[in-house]
Amino acid sequence: MPPLSAELLARLRAVPELRVWPGAPLSPFTTFGSGGRAKVLLTPGDPESLVEALAILREAGMSWSVLGAGSNVLVADQGYPGAVISLGGEFAYLQEDYPHPALVVGAGLSLPRLAVQAADRGLSGLEFTCGIPGSVGGAVAMNAGAHGSSLAQVITDVQIADPEGLHRVEVGELEWHYRRCGLPADAVVTAVRLELVAADRQEILIRHRTFQQARRRTQPRGVRNFGSTFKNPEGEAAGRLLEAAGLKGIRRGGAQISSVHANFVTNVDEASTRDALDLMTIMRESVWAKHRIALDPEVRLLGAGFPWQRAGDQAR
Ligand SMILES: Cc1cc2nc3c(=O)[nH]c(=O)nc-3n(C[C@H](O)[C@H](O)[C@H](O)COP(=O)(O)OP(=O)(O)OC[C@H]3O[C@@H](n4cnc5c(N)ncnc54)[C@H](O)[C@@H]3O)c2cc1C
Repeated sequence: MPPLSAELLARLRAVPELRVWPGAPLSPFTTFGSGGRAKVLLTPGDPESLVEALAILREAGMSWSVLGAGSNVLVADQGYPGAVISLGGEFAYLQEDYPHPALVVGAGLSLPRLAVQAADRGLSGLEFTCGIPGSVGGAVAMNAGAHGSSLAQVITDVQIADPEGLHRVEVGELEWHYRRCGLPADAVVTAVRLELVAADRQEILIRHRTFQQARRRTQPRGVRNFGSTFKNPEGEAAGRLLEAAGLKGIRRGGAQISSVHANFVTNVDEASTRDALDLMTIMRESVWAKHRIALDPEVRLLGAGFPWQRAGDQAR
């Protein structure tokens, strides 16, 4: 991948509160831990520096993508040939808001931390997030959900940055789908406002425990993964279809389909993204052969297309 031009690097480095890391490795920023480098990694420390960076990238014609906690992303082994934006710790804030029991939270806050902080304030509605290892921004982009609830149900509005500036978008202005939110293509979520319900803290914590126990029973533990590999098809569970296809435990390189849950690909020995994609191809082909159902990936691929897609078909 050709390096960043000296002129673009200098312009980015001149933005106050923007940390600039040319050629940064991306695997440490993902839960699966594979993949190559970004042409440049940008870590804005406030929304204004983010907007300025986006405007510079647009002017330079450089593609960019956002990484949250990297818990639903595979980075291509050859890396990402543009700028990757990772919000700084300054975006991991939480403020109470009124008149309803409400919170305004930064996009960089982790979901488990959000769940605990809401519980501490006696606010219910976010219990389902307690075991999801993503960030608030990634949870908006993915419309994260579990145990019958999803983020779209508690959000009132989303603050986004784009190369033009900062905007507030009401929840009804966005299209919310299963594990997808119709964010504008060049939008980075910077914060959300959530309306919640006052409830007893102990009861909230009991729900956390119940959800955590259910996860411990049904999902692999102590091994790197990126959560659900494929979305559940209408009226079906991807895990059940994959298990019925006899795929639990099969391995390609350092990646293995979990023997606990067949919709989880785990990194058991320094897996490459190619290893994970080889398994995903087998998973898709096996379910198609047995059930005539085409599985749709839930995991997002950064820097390449899925092997069964046409070139240029990648998420962003
Ligand atoms: C063990 C495990 C269990 C999981 N369980 C669940 C579950 O129960 N339910 C569920 O829904 N998911 C689950 N996931 C998947 C994942 O945690 C969620 O999708 C989460 O919301 C992704 O957030 P993230 O910050 O990690 O986003 P990333 O993985 O970093 O990114 C995901 C997508 O969001 C985009 N994005 C990230 N941040 C922003 C931003 N600020 N603005 C705009 N776009 C952004 C990225 O560009 C990318 O397209 C699980 C994952 C793991 C590893």
